[in-house]
Order: sequence, then structure tokens, then C-alpha cells
Amino acid sequence: MVRITLENITKKFGDFTALRGISLEIEDKEFMALLGPSGSGKSTLLYTIAGIYKPTSGRIYFDGRDITDVPPKDRNVGLVFQNWALYPHMKVFDNIAFPLELRKAPKDEIERKVREVAEMLRIEKLLDRYPWQLSGGQQQRVAIARALVKEPDVLLLDEPLSNLDALLRLEVRAELKRLQKELGITAVYVTHDQAEALAMADRIAVIREGKILQVGDPDDVYYRPKYRFVGGFLGSPPMNFLDAEVENEHLNVYGNRIPVPAQYRELVKRINVEEVILGFRPHDAEVVRGEAEGLKGAVYSFEPLGREQIVTVSFNGAHVKVFAPEGEHFRFGEDVTVRIREDRIVLFDRKTEKALEFLES
Ligand code: ATP
Repeated sequence: MVRITLENITKKFGDFTALRGISLEIEDKEFMALLGPSGSGKSTLLYTIAGIYKPTSGRIYFDGRDITDVPPKDRNVGLVFQNWALYPHMKVFDNIAFPLELRKAPKDEIERKVREVAEMLRIEKLLDRYPWQLSGGQQQRVAIARALVKEPDVLLLDEPLSNLDALLRLEVRAELKRLQKELGITAVYVTHDQAEALAMADRIAVIREGKILQVGDPDDVYYRPKYRFVGGFLGSPPMNFLDAEVENEHLNVYGNRIPVPAQYRELVKRINVEEVILGFRPHDAEVVRGEAEGLKGAVYSFEPLGREQIVTVSFNGAHVKVFAPEGEHFRFGEDVTVRIREDRIVLFDRKTEKALEFLES
């Protein structure tokens, strides 16, 4: 229940710079996901908020109070790690109680709080067991309970679901999201799983090589990526990209001419850019047969997914993926036209790989 302000945070390990000038505002009660590939600096940033790492430069504020030099134990943060690290020789009750024991809380308060948080996480019947007598999902809940029992101002989670199997992950993901809102606790959640970030977070900070590329709500980062990297990191399959050249009012895409999308017409004229990358999401296009306006290509492959299928279309070797309804039968090599929903097209500058609408900012 705290607003976190990160001001120009840099973190170096020897001569390696893991964080490069990170500034970010995390609102009170917000669920913020830190999303990025392995090694991008997400965990380093999380541990810096926790106080486990001290930034090389920059300041951290909780509710406007500078806590950069405050040790972790005085920050009142709850941490949940990827490997839940429960104490194997302690029963679930004692595992959860541990942070309160450290604080030397009175016995009856410990009893009450442990039971309360165990009920909230639906593990109240497991308090007498040892960690090895629990399933992965149950262990994970115990770890969350242990982080919550001390009523932290901030909950920091580092890939907490990655040890769970796919089904359980979906279940716990929904629960965790609900719990965070019920408790009204500020949460920062590290993940490299874009689906998890989209599903759970109020806002997502996309991180690459120690820098934040974009911060926005799931819709923003999904539909309005600031960089090609963001479009290509989010979505399954991710955004499609095709090289294109601006020719007056048209885009030349592998010999096909399509109009410059309405939302880009003025901008393209103003900034006078020629070499662009056309980006669109697989759900924002259709594959049609016969005479049609659009991008002419050939079916490279198709993959039924139950309710729909992914069709891969090739344009002289460049591939795009488009969703098509189930039941439509495609043939390898068949000529088709890809029609893209114009208002969902994103154009990137080919040199900087930045979306044209952000080029001037
Ligand atoms: P992952 O998802 O793989 O955990 P991440 O985005 O969380 O990745 P970090 O763990 O923050 O990445 O690491 C960022 C970079 O900093 C990596 O290149 C890593 O090797 C380096 N790094 C992290 N901790 C240390 C350390 N204690 N000493 C030296 N280098 C470190």
C-alpha cells in the first residue's frame, strides 16, 4: 500500500551495467509487471526495490520518502521467489510464522495471523504438513502466505509461477491477481512470460538490456508497441513484420501496393520516412482466396488449434502468421491474399525500429 518511485536507477556489477537509468512510477495498489527476456535486468531491479541490492546511482522512494539507504528488513516488503525456498524441516505453520517469529510477535498474534492468511490462500488444512508433503501449487501458496503474513506494504514476486505446470499456472495466476486486488497491496511482478504479464498486470514495463523500452497498460503495449522489439515480444504468435517502402500514398510491400493506413498519412508526409517495417498482429488480418486487394503470397503452412488455425503465408521468403477460422482447408503452396485491418497496422522506422508515432518523442 505504497507508491514506489524509481529515479534514474543504475546498477553495475563490476564493469557490467545491469540497469541503465531506470525511472518508473508504480502507483499505490498497482500491479506492475516487469517483462523482458532473460538477462534484461528484471530481477536486479526487483532486488533493488527490495533493498537486497543497492543502486550504483539513482534514488528509490516509497510514498515520497527516500529509502535508498534503508536496509531490506526496514522496508516492509514481502518477497516471493521462483524457487519457493520453504524451510524443509519446518511445518507449513512454522514456515508461514517465521517472519513474525523473527519480529518476536506475541504467540496469540502469530497464531491468528497465520490462520488468517492460510485461509485466504486456502491452505488452512495443510498447516501441519511438511513442505515435502505438498504439491508444487500448495508450496507456492505457502511461500505467498509467508510473504503476506507480515502485512507488507509492497509484494515483490520473481517468476513465482514458473515451477508450476501449465494448468496450475493458469489457476494460480487468476487467484494471485484477485488476491492482490482484494488486499489492495502494491505488487511488482517479474516475468519473462508475456501472457502472464498481459493477464495479470495493471501496467507492464518492458525491459531490455537494463532499459525500460515502454510502460503501459496491457492494451497499450500490445496494440501500440513503441518498438518493434515490444511488438515481437508480446503475443503468441507475436506481431508480424514485413519490410515496406513508402511511395507517396502507398506502401510497397514485396511488390504489393497497399494504401498508407489513414492514421499514418499525415505523419508519413511530415517526417518524410521511406524505409519502414509494417507490423500487424495475427488476429488483425485474414487470409482470402481469389481476387482481392491485399498482399499476395502463398500458403507455407497451417496449424489447427481447435477453434481456429494459424496459417503461415510466405512472401518471397518472408513469413507472416494469420489466424483463420477452423474448418477452412488450405493447401501447401496455394496462392492467397492477406488482408490486414488497416487501423491496427503499426509502422516502424527501419533504422531505429521505433514506431513512427514515437519517432519525434
Ligand atoms: P532472468 O529472467 O534470466 O532471471 P533477468 O532479466 O532477471 O533474467 P537479472 O538476473 O536481473 O536478469 O540479470 C541481469 C544481468 O546482470 C545479467 O546479465 C546477469 O548476468 C547480471 N547479473 C545479475 N546479478 C549479478 C551479480 N550479482 N553479479 C554480476 N552480474 C550479475
